[in-house]
Amino acid sequence: MAMDNLANAFYDELRDVFSAEKQLVDALPKMAKKASSAELKEALQSHLEETKQQVARVEAAFEETGKAARAKTCEAMKGLIEEAKEVLEEQADDETRDALIIACAQKVEHYEIATYGTLCRWAELLGYSQAEKLLKQNIQEEEAADSKLSTVAETVNKKALQHT
Ligand code: FE
Ligand code: FE
Ligand code: ZN
Ligand code: FE
Repeated sequence: MAMDNLANAFYDELRDVFSAEKQLVDALPKMAKKASSAELKEALQSHLEETKQQVARVEAAFEETGKAARAKTCEAMKGLIEEAKEVLEEQADDETRDALIIACAQKVEHYEIATYGTLCRWAELLGYSQAEKLLKQNIQEEEAADSKLSTVAETVNKKALQHT
């Protein structure tokens, strides 16, 4: 597909985020499973449920493009998840691993926020009002997930700091 107009760019980026969210549906349970803090586990599990909804919203956002809802591998998310997997396999004490899991999870959230920021603006410019509404719901959930992780990190980091 030629990237000769913003509508095509929007479609391409939507395919990318569709892939990114689907990858996270597989990755978040693995991160939650390895988390020791109950608070962190809960934050990751509840974001998993939100992520499943986000996949459905992105799928619905394709409607106004008039094109098929088809994912295109997001290589950036693949890389972020790869790094998270390395952290999960590392020898670590529970609290330090939790701190590292949060670091990985927040990189993911920030990446998603950046993508949805662009997509929301493009949807607005293209007059895709339904897509704009759906993508705004997603970005709000990502922002809330990110700030919840910051809160959980307060406790987790303190505990990790006690390990010498
Ligand atoms: Fe997401
Ligand atoms: Fe991407
Ligand atoms: Zn990508
Ligand atoms: Fe997210």
